[in-house]
Amino acid sequence: MRYSGFRVLKEALTGHKGWTPAWRDPDPQPHYDIVIVGGGGHGLATAYYLAKEFRQHRIAVIEKGWIGGGNVGRNTTIIRSNYLLDGNEPFYEFSLKLWEGLEQDFNYNAMVSQRGILNLIHTDAQRDAFIRRGNGMILNGADAELLSVAQLKREYPFLNYDNARFPIKGGLAQRRGGTVRHDAVAWGYARGADSRGVDIIQNCEVTGFRIENGKCLGVETSRGFIGAGKVGVAVAGSSSRVMAKAGMRLPIESHALQAFVSEGLKPVLPGVITFGAGHFYCSQSDKGGLVFGGDIDGYNSYAQRGNLPVIEDVAEGGMALFPGLGRVRLLRIWGGIMDMSMDGSPIIDRTHIDGLYFNGGWCYGGFKATPASGWCFAHLLATDTPHKTATAYRFDRFERGYLIDEKGMGAQPNLH
Ligand SMILES: Cc1cc2nc3c(=O)[nH]c(=O)nc-3n(C[C@H](O)[C@H](O)[C@H](O)COP(=O)(O)OP(=O)(O)OC[C@H]3O[C@@H](n4cnc5c(N)ncnc54)[C@H](O)[C@@H]3O)c2cc1C
Repeated sequence: MRYSGFRVLKEALTGHKGWTPAWRDPDPQPHYDIVIVGGGGHGLATAYYLAKEFRQHRIAVIEKGWIGGGNVGRNTTIIRSNYLLDGNEPFYEFSLKLWEGLEQDFNYNAMVSQRGILNLIHTDAQRDAFIRRGNGMILNGADAELLSVAQLKREYPFLNYDNARFPIKGGLAQRRGGTVRHDAVAWGYARGADSRGVDIIQNCEVTGFRIENGKCLGVETSRGFIGAGKVGVAVAGSSSRVMAKAGMRLPIESHALQAFVSEGLKPVLPGVITFGAGHFYCSQSDKGGLVFGGDIDGYNSYAQRGNLPVIEDVAEGGMALFPGLGRVRLLRIWGGIMDMSMDGSPIIDRTHIDGLYFNGGWCYGGFKATPASGWCFAHLLATDTPHKTATAYRFDRFERGYLIDEKGMGAQPNLH
C-alpha cells in the first residue's frame, strides 16, 4: 500500500477500513541468502537497501524484541554531518544527503526536519578548532557557518552569553542538520523492506552462530536454526555479547546513555543547540517538549536505564546555557545501550569468519548514520567490497594504528 494525501482522504471517507499492517509477521524460513541480526535502524536500513539498491533476494531481519525497541527508538533524534576527519565526514555527509530524500524514497513520513544545529564556542582555542572543523566540512561538500555573538543574540536571545565560567563567544552552525522522528525511521525502513520481500522476524533472539571450517552457515535462534549464505550483525549496544558467540572479542564497550524530555512548551528553540564546555545538547520536539541529553554513564552496563549523577551533570550543563530551563518540569527519562568503540568511530567490515559481517561501534552518534550505515553495509554484503565512504571503518585500524579519533581522546570510550 502506498501512503499519500489521497489515500488518507479516501480512508477518512470510508471509515479507515482499508489500512493494512505496515509489515507482515512471517515465520522464519529454513534458509535465506542474507540474514541480518538486529532489527534496529541499521539492520532494517541494510535490508531495505539490499533489496532496493542491490537487488538481493531472500533476506531476513532477525530481531530479539520488537521493531523500534532498541536505540533507534530511544535516541534524541539529532542528524548532522559536522565531522572533522576524512574517514568520517564523507560518510556522514552521504548520510545527511540520504536523509534529505528519505521520506520520498521509502514513502513514509519520518518528520525529517532540517531546523539546523548550533555548536556553541566558549574559548578562543575552541573557535580555532571549530573554524578548522567548518573548513573540513566545506571541503567535503557539507555546509558550515561561523556565527558571531551578535548574530547568535538575534537568533538565540535566551542563551546566557555572559556566564562567568562559560561565556558564549560564537558558534558553528550547520543549517542542514536537524532532527528526525526516530521510531518512524524504524517503521519506514521496516515497511519499505517488507514490501520488497524481506522477512522481518520479531521476538526471535540469535543465541549462536553455526560455524564450520571457518565459514558461517547460519544462526541459532530461540525459534530454531536459520541457515544463511551471509550473516550481517547490526546489534548496536549488544555487539560485544553477540559477537562473543562467534568467538570474537571486539574493541567495543557498552555504556548506558540517557535521554530527557520536558513538559510541552510553546516554541522556544529554533534548532538543536550543543554546549561547548560540557556535555549537553537540546532541541524541541514538534509536541513542544525539550529533548535533551549529555554524557554516557561512566561505567559499563547493559541496563537500558541510567543513574542520578549523570542527570545532575546534564541539568548543570543545561542551566549554564539557559537558566530558564530551571523552571521547566521534566516529564520522561530513559536510557539505551551504546556500543562505544575505542576511537569513537564505527566499524563496517567483514570478519575473519567467511560469511560473517559486522556493523557496530556507533557510540552515541549512530542515529544520524542510519541511512549511510544501511547503504554501506548492504554494499559490503552484496559486493564484498567497502563503499567508498566507509573504507576507513575497518577492524584492523586498531591493529595498524590508523585510528579515526575524531575527538582526540585516545582509547577511552567514556570520553568519546
Ligand atoms: C539516549 C540516546 C540518545 C541518542 N541520541 C542520538 C542522536 O541524537 N543522534 C545520533 O546520531 N545518535 C544518537 N544515539 C545513538 C543511536 O541511537 C544509535 O547509535 C543507533 O540507533 C544504533 O543503531 P540501531 O538503530 O541499529 O540500534 P538498535 O535500535 O539498538 O538496534 C539493535 C537491535 O539489535 C537487537 N538485538 C540485540 N541482540 C540481539 C540478538 N541476540 N538477536 C537478535 N536481535 C538482537 C536489539 O533488540 C535491537 O533492536 C542515541 C542513543 C541513545 C540511547
